[in-house]
Order: sequence, then structure tokens, then C-alpha cells
Amino acid sequence: SLLKTILMDNLLVILMVIAVIIGVCLGLGLRGVWNTWDKSKIHYLRFPGDLLLNMLKMMIIPLIVSSLISSMASLDSKASGRMGIRSVIYYLTTTLVAVIIGVVLVLSIQPGYRGGKTIDKSGKAAKSDPLNALMDLIRNCFPNNLVAACFQKQVTKVDQYEVKPPATTTAAPTNTTSSTMGTVTGVVQNVTDNVMESFFVDDPKVTTADGMNILGLVVFSLFFGAIISRMEGQGKPLADFFECLHVATMRLVTLIIWYSPIGIIFLIASKLVAMEDPEKMFAQLGYYMATVLAGLAAHGFIVLPLIYFIATRQNPFKFMYNMLKALLTAWGTASSSATLPITMNCLEEKNGVDPRVTKFVAPIGATINMDGTALYEAVASIFIAQHIGQDLGVGEVIVVSLTSTAAAIGAAGVPQAGLVTMAIVLTAVGLPVDNITLILSIDWFLDRFRTAINVLGDSYGAGIVAHLSKADLEKMDRDALGLEEVS
Ligand code: ASP
Repeated sequence: SLLKTILMDNLLVILMVIAVIIGVCLGLGLRGVWNTWDKSKIHYLRFPGDLLLNMLKMMIIPLIVSSLISSMASLDSKASGRMGIRSVIYYLTTTLVAVIIGVVLVLSIQPGYRGGKTIDKSGKAAKSDPLNALMDLIRNCFPNNLVAACFQKQVTKVDQYEVKPPATTTAAPTNTTSSTMGTVTGVVQNVTDNVMESFFVDDPKVTTADGMNILGLVVFSLFFGAIISRMEGQGKPLADFFECLHVATMRLVTLIIWYSPIGIIFLIASKLVAMEDPEKMFAQLGYYMATVLAGLAAHGFIVLPLIYFIATRQNPFKFMYNMLKALLTAWGTASSSATLPITMNCLEEKNGVDPRVTKFVAPIGATINMDGTALYEAVASIFIAQHIGQDLGVGEVIVVSLTSTAAAIGAAGVPQAGLVTMAIVLTAVGLPVDNITLILSIDWFLDRFRTAINVLGDSYGAGIVAHLSKADLEKMDRDALGLEEVS
């Protein structure tokens, strides 16, 4: 039966690779036909892919909550503290290295000075307030409503505190009440808007498509699990409940994985059918795309494997091969959160990473550790600066590097989230946010690659933390055995 499982697992990887190839061929092949039909019918082609996305997204909340709570509940506080510190150090250093690679590449290739016409730089002045965006990141760590956090992130628009007259006034009995009422309605309206709408509300092209406040759920689960672990015997029913929820969720995930090749075919094909004018895209933005892709490749194939090798003395490429299902899913879905179930499956089943580590490190990594996104944000914003002829000094490049790291931490693991949080980077160095439209047309393409690198970074992180935490885990095992003997 061992032989059978080995065969089955490789079968899935092969099926997924074939799915990507079929998806690309189908998409490119259908382009000619589809254009003579109706573009609005692309959702028919996407349907099997939508099913996959829905199934994966459906697993995100039960998976994150059950993983984090059960792992925190089962770890003693010293072990979880050390594991947390190791993870954070890994996340920050790898993200910063990714940013540095991006900055070095974009400054030496200078894609903004090549190809295509220069876009006019008379964009609107930057509107968003980077400090407020960072504060939003922290605010979202403490959601005011756990249920709402499952489907909505809180976004604060700075001007909500300004008292504005309402856009339309309704008839009111007297002038005085009218203006007072009007002001109050205006403020209420502003506050409601800011909770309900996404960051880029005035640019319908850029919206946070999927606003789950995962960071809030992560923070809650960590604390909740830590509390349970300190309740000793009393906490056991809750600890068992979340452990059982986790096991059941992961079993469901294995079913979904069998469907994923089909979903991937249609996600990719429909995207390629809808793609606009590839020749124009490459002519204008070719160097920019090449810079981002070269950076991602250097990070994914050289830096991360090297770090993994130094930390664990194990073969990084075997580890990478074992993650292939997750990497292809990341490429197919452009979402590290949607990929999380498959990431955890590969880590545990194929790379043999201790589940106590996977449950702890993978959900947090999928939420805050985004090397690919950070690299891309740094390249994209310096590219924009070059393109509109606003050269950045050394200080500004450092600001770009630091804010790119923050913006990547703040980006949710959903498609094109990095494009939205890039407003933080642009505003911090005084570049007009409107220029994001410059790179909008090809962002879906780069998104897939950076998501795959994000997932790869999370995976190596789990492997490294598991290796470094071996002693802690073994001690816990011994303690557990000892306890059993006593009782
Ligand atoms: N799509 C990316 C992810 O899920 C985030 C980004 O837009 O960079 O990891």
C-alpha cells in the first residue's frame, strides 16, 4: 500500500502539470474562436475553475482557525514562543532579501527607461495616507466582530473624521435641523462607506476582491489556543475539538486536491482567452516583466534553496519537488490563502514536516510572509518612478524597500492584493498612486509567479522551523510519554 500511495501522489503531480499545459494550449487555441463569439461568455469557460476556487476558499477559515488553535493548545508556551521567534526571523530576513534582489535588479536593468512611450506624469497627487494604511494593518489584527472578520476586512479612510456636507440633501422641516441632520448623515454615511467599501473605491478597476480578515482570525486563534494550553485538564475538550476539526478539514482537502487538475485547466484557459493584446503588452512592459520574473527566479531557485540548505543540510530541490502540487495550484489560483490547504497537505504528507509545526507556521506564513509580493512591489514602484521620470535618491530607495516589506505583510493572500497595497509604497515616496494603472494590464500574469514564490517561501519556512525546533518537539514527546507512564 506504501507503493500505491507513492504512485498516487506522483500521479497527482503529473496530472497537475498536464492540467497546466492543457490549460495554456486550450486558452491560446480558443482565443481566435472566442473573440468572434461573445467575451462576456468567458464565465462559462471559467465555471469548473470557479468550483475549485470556491472549494479551496471554503476550507480557508476552518483550516486556519483549527490549525492555529489546536497547535497552540498542544504546544507548551516555551516551545511555541521559540517557534514563533524563529518563524518571524525567517519571514523578515527572507522578505528583506527578496526586496534587495528586486531593488538591485530594477536599478541595474532600468526597465522604466526602455521600450514604449512615457506615460504622462500629471496624475492626481497621492491621496492615501501611508501611516493610516499601516494603522489599518494593526487595527485588523483586532477585529471587532469575529463573524464579520470571516468575510470582511476593515478599511479606514482618513477623511472619515472630516465633517462633510452630504452629497444630496433631503427636504427637512427647518434650515437649522436640515444642516445639522445633513452633517450627521454625512458623517454616518462616510463611516458606513469606509467599512463597507474597499481601499480603492474610486477606481473600480482596483478593488480588494476578497476581503476576509485573515490576519484578525490568525491573531485571535493564536491567543485563544495559548489560553487553552494554559487551562490544563479543563481546556482538554476544546483542544480535542479543534484537533478533530483540523483532522476532518484536512481529509476534506485531500478530496478537493483530486479535483484540482480539472479546475486548474479552466482557470488558466479562461484567463488566457480574456487576455488583451499580448504583443502590445510585451512591447511596452517586456523589460519590466523580465525584471520581476528574473528577481522571482533568483529568489526561488537560488536564495531560498540556499537558506534551506544552510539551515537544514537537506536537499532543497527535493523539498521543492515535493511542494510541486502546491506551487502549481498557487500558479493556477494566484492566491496563497486558497493554496494553503494544499500547501499543508504537501508539507505533511510529502515532506514529512511535523504537523505541530505545519499547523502553526503555514497559516501564518500564508498570511504575512510574501517574498514574491515584496520583491514585486519594490520593482514595480521603482519602475513607475523611472517611467515617469521621477528619479529616486538613496534615501527614497530605502523607504521603498521598507514600505514594500510592510506592504507585502499587509497584502492578503488573494489575487492581485499586492497591486492594491502598493499604494502604501508609492505614497511613501510621493509618487502618484494613479500610475498603478500603468502595470495593471499585466498584473494578473506576474501575480501567478509571485504567488508561487510566496508559497515556496512559506514552505521552506515550515521546513526550517521544524528542523530547528526538533529538540523542543522531542522534549514534548518525552514529557507526554512520561506523563502517561505516571498516570
Ligand atoms: N496573490 C498574491 C498571493 O496570494 C498576493 C499578491 O497579490 O501579491 O500571495
